[in-house]
Amino acid sequence: MKVKVAINGYGTIGKRVADAVSKQDDMEIIGVTKTKPDYVSKMTAYPLYVAVPENMGTFEEAGVKVHGTIGDLLKKADIVVDGSPGKIGAEHKPMYEKAGVKAVFEGGEKHELAGVSFNAMANYDSAIGKDFVRVVSCNTTGLCRTLYPLYRDFGIDNVKAVMIRRSADPPDSKKGPINAIEPVLKVPSHHGPDVQTVIPDLNISTMAVKVPTTIMHLHSVIVELKKEAGTEDVLNVWENTPRVKFVRGADGVKSTAQIMEMARDMGRNRSDMYEIIVWKDGVHVDGKTLYYSQAIHQESDVVPENIDCIRAMTNLEKNKLKSIEKTDKAMGIN
Ligand code: NAD
Repeated sequence: MKVKVAINGYGTIGKRVADAVSKQDDMEIIGVTKTKPDYVSKMTAYPLYVAVPENMGTFEEAGVKVHGTIGDLLKKADIVVDGSPGKIGAEHKPMYEKAGVKAVFEGGEKHELAGVSFNAMANYDSAIGKDFVRVVSCNTTGLCRTLYPLYRDFGIDNVKAVMIRRSADPPDSKKGPINAIEPVLKVPSHHGPDVQTVIPDLNISTMAVKVPTTIMHLHSVIVELKKEAGTEDVLNVWENTPRVKFVRGADGVKSTAQIMEMARDMGRNRSDMYEIIVWKDGVHVDGKTLYYSQAIHQESDVVPENIDCIRAMTNLEKNKLKSIEKTDKAMGIN
């Protein structure tokens, strides 16, 4: 029997998690919700349910066929992935509790909502059998992917990182800046403390800046390792880390633009790049100090993490490496 997954909030993340679930052989999508009968509601191939029951009439008026409300969907689900906008997921938790359905929340929610914040490599075991887990944000996922294996193999004294953030996702025409660079004045930015919800004793502080781009985030990271290591040692660790991928400036990959073109050339679903991209020729170790740059495809890096999270929470797989391998094989990540 496949695990029955519902998606409540079928936007940037919800759509992608739905497609990724559909590629697995141990879970299936039983329905997705929409708040309004927009073009996405008309196009989706998944059974459609109404997220806000009061809006049922608007779907009928628009001639969009629905199978019921979120309440009806939850009755059939083993687990729901809440892909609604940040902070709205928290409002849904009592509904999930009442329905007796497990829930995966996303990075826009607070850690305390679920009590477990998840990254597959760093803390898969903490999600096993749990009712509520939060998959951390795109930036936090990116930091955990590359920092956790260094922390495990060399030890980390401290990390200083700057997040150069995209200002909006590609379909979002409301947000900016469109011709300015906006520093986040709160120091440290929330990213460092968020990494600590996954790797509690990692000494990390972060700053952030918003720039006029929609395609990816970029991180400039400086790590003080506990053990001395060569550049090759660090590269070897990442070479053997799932969902971390190297590119080289020397091969013409000079910016996030060429990374997105690579994803298109790879024929990826929605042109997604699930891996964290590290510039191999931008990795330098000087004594115990490591410098590197990495790029994050904010719309998709958390998607395979959601799949592993579902597998851990529903006890489909207890071994993190087996789950990661299964997810990645099904999604075409090598
Ligand atoms: P989004 O705005 O693209 O999609 C959210 C969807 O939820 C929309 O379709 C919206 O209509 C719907 N929605 C609104 N209110 C709802 C409700 N009450 N019930 C059900 N659905 C509702 O948002 P997103 O970017 O997919 O973000 C979802 C979550 O994922 C947030 O917690 C966000 O912080 C997190 N996240 C986003 C990104 C990213 O870069 N987009 C990356 C990682 C994590």
